Amino acid sequence: MTAATNSVTSAATSAATNAATSAATKVRTRFAPSPTGFLHLGGARTALFAWAYARRHGGIFILRVEDTDVERSTPEAVQAIIEGMEWLGLTPDEGPFYQMRRMERYREVVAQMLKDGTAYYCYCTPDEVEAMRERQRAAGDKPRYDGTWRPEPGKTLPAVPEGRKPVVRFRNPQEGDVTWDDAVKGPITISNRELDDLIIARPDGTPTYNFCVVVDDWDMRITHVIRGDDHVNNTPRQINILKALGGELPVYGHLPMIHGPDGEKLSKRHGAVSVMEYPLQGYLPEAMLNYLARLGWSHGDDEIFSMEQFCAWFDLGHLSKSPAQFNPEKLAWLNNHYIRQAEPGRLAALVRPLMEQDGARFDSAPDLDSVLALLKERVKTVNELAEAAMLFYREPAPEPALLSQHLTDAVKPALLAYAAHCMTIDWKKEALAAMLKEVLAAHKLKMPQLAMPLRLMLTGQLQTPSIDAVVELFGRETVSARLARFLG
Ligand code: GLU
Repeated sequence: MTAATNSVTSAATSAATNAATSAATKVRTRFAPSPTGFLHLGGARTALFAWAYARRHGGIFILRVEDTDVERSTPEAVQAIIEGMEWLGLTPDEGPFYQMRRMERYREVVAQMLKDGTAYYCYCTPDEVEAMRERQRAAGDKPRYDGTWRPEPGKTLPAVPEGRKPVVRFRNPQEGDVTWDDAVKGPITISNRELDDLIIARPDGTPTYNFCVVVDDWDMRITHVIRGDDHVNNTPRQINILKALGGELPVYGHLPMIHGPDGEKLSKRHGAVSVMEYPLQGYLPEAMLNYLARLGWSHGDDEIFSMEQFCAWFDLGHLSKSPAQFNPEKLAWLNNHYIRQAEPGRLAALVRPLMEQDGARFDSAPDLDSVLALLKERVKTVNELAEAAMLFYREPAPEPALLSQHLTDAVKPALLAYAAHCMTIDWKKEALAAMLKEVLAAHKLKMPQLAMPLRLMLTGQLQTPSIDAVVELFGRETVSARLARFLG
């Protein structure tokens, strides 16, 4: 970690080219979560877009943990974020870097800014600043720092109060505008009059949030800042500080929020949960990635695509300006698609522990891969698949009432004939299907009249995939034993 931190630090000196506009410069993006909670859908989508943009341009994707809020940051949250990214395969090329390990660097930059005159000490106490704001509000003005300690040519500053530790403020330009062409929102202009002289270091010397972000983006030579639009208000402040440092501006792109299906802010019930809830519920990472990719970005009408395809397509020009809406049904639909595509062996490894928890025994039962191949068409989640597959791995216990309703004296002779044929028949689905048809014809019965009691005797349920497929999978021995149990 130390080596990595150092290499980032020394990079600062060479950060003077505008990487975003120079074709020769490598794209460098970052995902910069604050580890105050799990990785939720919004964060995962930001990470995905930053990662995909780097992949698209043969660039570098950086993970930076913004852990300076020591009250709210936890190692568990760091772990949860890293796990979430690992599950999705969003592997950083550099990092994780931790802001708490870069304090020395921030102090160094603050010292340099004080020397350069782009920052200054301010000895106002929080109470004084509050009183200042009260006065401004009372006078109908916008509350802001009044520049008491801001050095100006020919201005005499107040005497330094004894024993008082100052904050450091950024000397924000007072005239002109800050303008950037947001990759998502288009051109944005903010007047410098709207911006205060931001505190960049507290009385104890610890740097503040916006300042750390700028130093990091500068040192890490970030070319494209892709982040949620809850940060759009920070951007003009960050741009001014970056300019004061002599850094070139990255491209900024602010992603619109993700709303719930009801159009409201994402709630716990709808996606405001850890992405790691999704594997627990039986979602495959490629379904989640495909889903997130379309959340605020589009490529014509394409809905289903691989990450390889996405990385080849992804651009900032097709990001939507309006909030995206989380649609759990669509996620489930994609999950079904990817479950159908998945290798049976992979699915088996996922369902096996779930089924074992449910009491499944795999010793004499049918081959799990074949069972999954049969069942995977209709399920939305791996958990549903595990549940459906249990059909083949537990002793059937049909409800007596159902059994007597379907296993009537009228159909028993046909079932006995079926059981007898089962002893000798070539155990293939086609042969079994033909045999069942012959038995039906010979006893003048309709399909459900035999299929239903067969289902009940073999699985205990009335809902199963095609009876011939079920019979084939169970195999001769199990089928004969189960029929014998009920038919005597
Ligand atoms: N740490 C910020 C967050 O988690 C992101 C800051 C940024 O991307 O600039 O919301």
